[in-house]
Amino acid sequence: MHYDLHIHSCLSPCADDDMTPNNICNMAAIKGLDVIAVTDHNSCRNLPAVDRCAAKAGIRLIYGCELQTIEEVHVLGYFRTLNDALGMQEWIDKKLIRTEYDPKYFGHELIMNEKDEVIAEEKALLITSLDASLEETVESIHHHGGAAVLAHAVGRTNSILVQLGFIPKDLPYDGIEVKKEEDMSVIEKSHPWINKDSTVWLMDSDAHRLIDISEPIHEICEAQLQRLWRRNL
Ligand SMILES: [Zn+2]
Ligand SMILES: [Zn+2]
Repeated sequence: MHYDLHIHSCLSPCADDDMTPNNICNMAAIKGLDVIAVTDHNSCRNLPAVDRCAAKAGIRLIYGCELQTIEEVHVLGYFRTLNDALGMQEWIDKKLIRTEYDPKYFGHELIMNEKDEVIAEEKALLITSLDASLEETVESIHHHGGAAVLAHAVGRTNSILVQLGFIPKDLPYDGIEVKKEEDMSVIEKSHPWINKDSTVWLMDSDAHRLIDISEPIHEICEAQLQRLWRRNL
């Protein structure tokens, strides 16, 4: 399956307003992707609409979010059901450090229905940290039936290697997202206990604009995908 498991919708203030549920799913279909995840910053609130649009477009959806821990590390949460993701949303609502924001400066945070109509605007700024440590965040993702993947793990602000400098040995993450093949070796060399072959690696677009959604270049098989949730089986 060709995949792109890191796409932001118009609910993320930094994403274009035309990253609507229908546009994302239709663009993924045009590009020939089989499975996508929409992963907004600290929110699952556009997933009900994306779920219906993905079904219409014939695309499989993994229910996602991109959480920012108190250490400012980005962690992707992946859920197998919409219900699990909405359960996670309740936890996010309790943990989000609420700050008012000016949409003119940060961009809009649009919640849509399956017709791409705006049904609400998020009031709190979503590109901020949760009042939860990396360990607590990973634990909560598991508690809600999800898988935790270290987002853009190498060489970027909000990556675990930039924020912490290393991946803690006892951190029970389920996969690592990298930008390119060589990043896997970077991680392996500095973390000898991480086995390249037994790790689930993802390469996603982190698209904030329609044009940036992945071409069908990265593939994952069903068994590999399911390994993300192995702790919950
Ligand atoms: Zn990120
Ligand atoms: Zn992202």
